This record gives sequence, structure tokens and C-alpha cells, in this order.
Amino acid sequence: MQFELDTLLRKNIKELKPYSSARDEYKGKEGVFFDANENPFGSTLGVNYNRYPDPLQLDLKEKISKVKGIPVKNIFIGNGSDEAIDILFRAFCNPGVDNAIICPPTYGMYEVSANINDVQIVKVPLTAEEFQLDTKQILKSINKNSKLFFVCCPNNPTGNGVKWASIKTILENFNGIVVIDEAYINFASYNSLVPELLNYPNLVILQTLSKAWGLAGLRIGMAFASKDIIDIFNKIKPPYNINSASQTEAMNALDKVEEINTMIKTIVAERKKIADALSTISCIIKIYPSEANFLLVKTTEPDKIYNYLIANNMVVRNRSKVQLCDGCLRITIGTSEQNQQLISLLKKY
Ligand SMILES: *Cc1c(COP(=O)(O)O)cnc(C)c1O
Repeated sequence: MQFELDTLLRKNIKELKPYSSARDEYKGKEGVFFDANENPFGSTLGVNYNRYPDPLQLDLKEKISKVKGIPVKNIFIGNGSDEAIDILFRAFCNPGVDNAIICPPTYGMYEVSANINDVQIVKVPLTAEEFQLDTKQILKSINKNSKLFFVCCPNNPTGNGVKWASIKTILENFNGIVVIDEAYINFASYNSLVPELLNYPNLVILQTLSKAWGLAGLRIGMAFASKDIIDIFNKIKPPYNINSASQTEAMNALDKVEEINTMIKTIVAERKKIADALSTISCIIKIYPSEANFLLVKTTEPDKIYNYLIANNMVVRNRSKVQLCDGCLRITIGTSEQNQQLISLLKKY
């Protein structure tokens, strides 16, 4: 493999002189600030919201570094993972020229973000039923304009883990960037691939505080990669992409690892319970194995069941029109009580 970050990077980004904010130039916390046109009296909210936030979120990164065992220089924080995905397209894909490879059924944002950036998407479907990478077909589909490969593991909406051996094959035979989206890794029975960052300079791993950490409303997504790739993310991102309130609250949340681990255990235990209960219901044909906080289930009449649940104030995700997901609904694991309500409704269907 001849991965060269410098050749992969778009020319305009390589030559970009990034915006230098007031807080990039002076990093001290003490002083009288005449540099950023802020309101000197404070905010009406009584918090220091009159001041711009730390552009590089160093305090938050130190916390993440401690919790995850990843050096600060290898961490990027985005306004949701979606910002990290968008930056990858803008850094590496020339609009109208380059392409990215995805393996449907998978997370919808890769394709939407590609479309926004006028980047062609090459689709190599996962294998039917097992939902694994079709490595032969993927390697065949790579051409000189292929710059990104996305794999979601555990995958959304199927819930399964993707075999490391096949991801490794792509990593070792692709000169572009391999992005592994680990949004659901906290619910999986296997470990994160973060330690592989040391072995593969073309690897980017995405995680988020939106799912297991229960902070979807704060919009904190993370990308882990080599320092050189992280520097590119930082060059492109809006200067103050993570607001002060989100930085502070995320830091508070990261102090409570034990509580989150308890919630994760409960959700994983509920996943097994609800899967067992669903397997006894006649309108459910198949429950796919899940390493995430949701179950993909094949049903007899997806649209009718979906509408029946809606009429009873229960919202699931209808995935029945998605490639390889005929008849399927995706159900997030709720609290024990919510799950029981869902089961009894489905029993009555
Ligand atoms: C939910 C989800 C995310 C999280 O996105 P955020 O923007 O961080 O909330 C990322 N990837 C996948 C596959 C997801 O399902």
C-alpha cells in the first residue's frame, strides 16, 4: 500500500491558510480581552457565555483522552459525527471528480454528505442476510478517484458487527482513507478498533456521545486518527464549532463513566429480553443479531405494523424500503416498561 496523505489531500485544502481566531492568537485565560468584540458586561444568563469557546476544546479533549486512552493530538471533536463526515468529503474529495465507496444498507448520512459535496457514491452492497463486506467487489470497485471508504461497525440499520479481517483487507489494499463508524461500539461484545490507529495511517474512527452517552442534544461527535489527519480536520472546521455549553456539559458527563456503564449493561440486557419476546410474536419473521442499542426485525406487513404502532403513539423506524431490508422495522431498545408496552401491542396486532 502506498498511502500518501499529502497526495490524497485536495490542493485547495493543502494551500488553505486557515482562519486565525482571536483565541488562537492569545490562549491565556487571564487578561482584559479587547480582542474579540465580546460584550464586556457578561451575558444575561449569568454564565460566561459572553466569551467565545476554546476553538480546540482542549479541556474536553483531555477528558476524552483519559476515558478512551487516546492522546489529545489524535482527537477531533465535531458538532456531531455528521460534521466529521462532511469534513472528510471536503478534505479529500474533489467535487464532480472523486468518489467514495459505501456498503448499503448503512447509515444514510454518508450518501447525503457526498451529495451535498457533489461527490459520487459507489455502492457495494453488504452480503445478503449476513450483512458482511463483499471485499472482492469492493476492491474491484476502487479506482484512481476513490478517496474514502465508509464502514459502519456495528452497522446501522442492521445492528451486526463487520468482520475485522475484511476491514483489514480494505485498509491494506486501498490508498484512500478508511472510515470506521463506531457510533454503537459501547453496546458491542467486541472492542473498539482504536488501537489499530497505530498500525494504519489511513484509518479514521468515528465515535459519538449521542448514543450510549445519552447526549444527542449536545451534538458531540469524535474522530480519532493520526495527528496529520486531525490537523487537517482542525484546519477546515469552523473556528468555534463546539459551543461552550456543550463543552462544559460533555465534560461533566464524562466524569460519570460508572453510571453510563450501568445504563449500557441495562440496555444490552433489555436487548436480549425484547429479542426473546419478539421471537414468539407471529407478525415477526426474523430478528437479526444486534451488537447495538436497536434491533432490526423482519415483519409480515411493515407498513401496516408501522402505522398501527404510530396510531398507538409508538414510533419505530420503517426500513422496509431499504436495500436488503425488505419487510424490516428498526426498533430502538427503550426502558423495560416501554419495551413491555411495545411487546404487548405487537402481541395484539
Ligand atoms: C447516530 C449515528 C451517528 C451519530 O451522529 P451524531 O451526529 O454524532 O449524533 C453516527 N453514525 C451512525 C451510524 C449513527 O447511527
